[in-house]
Amino acid sequence: MKTNQALAQRDLAVLWHPCTQMHDHETMPMIPIKKGRGVWLEDFDGNRYLDAVSSWWVNLFGHGNADINAALKDQLDNLEHVIFAGFTHESAIKLAEKLVEVTPDGLTRCFYADNGSAAVEVALKMSFHYWRNQGRAAKTKFITLENSYHGETLGALAVGNVPLYKETYAPLLMDVISVPSPDCYHREVGESWADYSIRRFELMEQTLQQHADSVCAVIIEPLVQCAGSMRMYDVVYLKLLREACDKYQVHLIADEIAVGFGRTGTLFACEQAAITPDFMCLSKGLTGGYLPLSAVMTTDVMYQAFYDDYVKLSAFLHSHSYTGNALACRAGVATLEIFQQQGIIEKNRSLAQIMAKVVAARFHDHPHVAEVRQTGMILAIELVKNKATREPYPWQERRGVKVYQYALSKGVLLRPLGNVIYFMPPYIITEEELILLAEVAWQGIQHAVKA
Ligand code: PMP
Repeated sequence: MKTNQALAQRDLAVLWHPCTQMHDHETMPMIPIKKGRGVWLEDFDGNRYLDAVSSWWVNLFGHGNADINAALKDQLDNLEHVIFAGFTHESAIKLAEKLVEVTPDGLTRCFYADNGSAAVEVALKMSFHYWRNQGRAAKTKFITLENSYHGETLGALAVGNVPLYKETYAPLLMDVISVPSPDCYHREVGESWADYSIRRFELMEQTLQQHADSVCAVIIEPLVQCAGSMRMYDVVYLKLLREACDKYQVHLIADEIAVGFGRTGTLFACEQAAITPDFMCLSKGLTGGYLPLSAVMTTDVMYQAFYDDYVKLSAFLHSHSYTGNALACRAGVATLEIFQQQGIIEKNRSLAQIMAKVVAARFHDHPHVAEVRQTGMILAIELVKNKATREPYPWQERRGVKVYQYALSKGVLLRPLGNVIYFMPPYIITEEELILLAEVAWQGIQHAVKA
């Protein structure tokens, strides 16, 4: 019999899951999913769960999306995968053409990899290698923001900053220069996001001034530090950073892996600052949440710096077996077609307003909510022990996990980041479903804050 329990048992006998203390599953049941349709997931016992976190922020247009399914079936009948050196295929070309069209002006080259962390590795290596090809081999360092997250392979982990993921592996990681974050949760009472972001930029400017000769690039998550508890900052920071990177001859790497593809209200967060980074890392929503794929978009200047006779040995050296996978690229093409043909960014504007109306307004005055913040389709609720002092709940109490468990029992998949409850739903969510989400989150918080 394929029941939840039977499958969970088989799973626990052979599998090891990511971001999980497997011991937790002695008390928290593993949930085997049989089917996904729209925002809903269904398990083997027939329970349904509203996927409020887009399955780790990847899903854009629902599970089992008819357009992406059809595109994939067609691709499957022709080509599943082909070596991507010396060979190419139509879906990879089409997706790159579309990405060049929709990303900020000046990003004219697309380099594929197969997950977000790999894209970050590519951008770091390309930046370093560019400076080396220019005869500036002293540039070996990277500047990163505190509270940032860029993935968990060793290079990506090194430029990230969330202690939970990083501390254990610190002895294995390259040295980076960390600059305090513009995270507006820490602004003074009455201070605007913009004022705080400008004030915090001074530290970045000083660091650039001091270290520019040894720095390849600054890497940031534009507008929202997602894995770092959905902390947000003002668009002015991006503008100032672009100007300063130009001034000090340092590259700007925009990691839009989580915030790209409409999450912040525009197709890419960088658009809001009207800036073009030197590298833009994309993944997650790139395939609508179907298949692992990533892309690093870069400029012609970067491309030309590697373009020379073979014997000069200046070519970029990075390869993954599944680079440019045909199925994944085809899902990417279908995803961008949905954006282009179905007015998604427009529709998201009203969805974001509904989220603000049904969620933000209600939670604001809760005695254990320090802040409700929102950027486009990302909304976060910061739970604290003491609203006045913002003293957090001790992490050992795992209040967020209590919300998670409660929500599951009510048919909602909310997976908090520590004590931060957030919504990052697929864009096909309805107003009724948002109301349900808000209600379950409210009850879950009430349940979790009980002593
Ligand atoms: N960068 C950011 C901003 C991310 O949020 C993530 C994943 N959460 C990554 C990089 C890493 O992507 P992946 O999990 O596909 O390696």
